[in-house]
Amino acid sequence: MRRLFVLLVVLLTFGGAIADTFPEVKVQKINDRVYALLGPTDAPNKENRGYMTNSLAIIGQEGVILVDAGSHKAVAEHILTSLRTVTAKPVTHVLITHHHPDHHLGLAAFPGTNVISTEACAKEIRVRGRSMVNWMKSRTGLSLAGTHPVIPQMVITAKSRQAIELEGVRMELIASETAHTSGDMVVWLPDDGVLAAGDILVHAINPNFADGNLKQWIGVVEDLLKLPLKTVMPGHGPLMDRQDVLEFGRLIASFYKTVESIYKAGGAESDVRKKLDMARWEKLGRFQEMMGHNISTVWRQIETDNF
Ligand SMILES: [Zn+2]
Repeated sequence: MRRLFVLLVVLLTFGGAIADTFPEVKVQKINDRVYALLGPTDAPNKENRGYMTNSLAIIGQEGVILVDAGSHKAVAEHILTSLRTVTAKPVTHVLITHHHPDHHLGLAAFPGTNVISTEACAKEIRVRGRSMVNWMKSRTGLSLAGTHPVIPQMVITAKSRQAIELEGVRMELIASETAHTSGDMVVWLPDDGVLAAGDILVHAINPNFADGNLKQWIGVVEDLLKLPLKTVMPGHGPLMDRQDVLEFGRLIASFYKTVESIYKAGGAESDVRKKLDMARWEKLGRFQEMMGHNISTVWRQIETDNF
């Protein structure tokens, strides 16, 4: 018995025990009809059970438009429970900002809703959705019963800007060229001054450059700054204002410039670690996880751009 107890303690301490509840959803009211549902910011793991993404709830006439659905079905249900504290209206539309699994695998919790995203995002989910579910299972240690990929039925093309009205709310769906991914879409609410940016903007954590194009990303952030932004919800991290977006844009631009100048001076990828202002990046979350591959991704992109 004693031995079993010791084993159990060891397992709980070193085995990465799976938590039995989700971290709390931070519900932040932006105005009477727009609420940010903010999640934790770590990578999906056993402790957060995969809950680590922000969603935006826009309460319209008859129903709610949700931006991003979370990492799996139970995460989406957890988000829905917190949404019930501010409205009883059903979710009628889900807008997906990009194809990374933490933003859309929760769609299985919304059968019958209209799902809108970009063409490229829908294609990625169609091709890689199943393996994304398996990846999320391995990260969280959960069986993820009921979680399956859902392909957006309504799609918009890259580099397009579409004004639509959903549930009486005017909005613009802006699909950029490749920035964070090949199929990014942001949601702009002109009457509220609110932007849901997906992972084109993240706050207080290191961005992930792996599937994107940093040079174009910098231009996309510059374009977003032309909007009269009041409140910005990033894909991860606390809400931002215009100044925060400006600083994020400058930070990623300085990353690109540093790597480019080393490349053009005939330096090596290893020089980037010495020249980049690491103190600035270390202050941001998920540094260890992101920095190494971010450097090699951008090095490769600059090599291609200058070939
Ligand atoms: Zn994300």
